[in-house]
Amino acid sequence: MIWCPRCDQGWVTPARARGQSETFRLCHECDTVWVDREPDANPPFLILEEYAARFGLDGLWSNIEVLERKPGA
Ligand SMILES: [Zn+2]
Repeated sequence: MIWCPRCDQGWVTPARARGQSETFRLCHECDTVWVDREPDANPPFLILEEYAARFGLDGLWSNIEVLERKPGA
């Protein structure tokens, strides 16, 4: 579990878009997505809405499967 290096406001957890096998890291506060790299503060940033659109999904949390619970949840 990683504290978000971009917004410094929330946790980054492994996640998966509904119906997809690819996993990625997602910040629960700023909705930044990291695919194929560890979370860092270096642009370019991908946000959940843009990522989900690759699969024809809306960038809604209901379309996302969180694979690890954040602390306290
Ligand atoms: Zn963040």
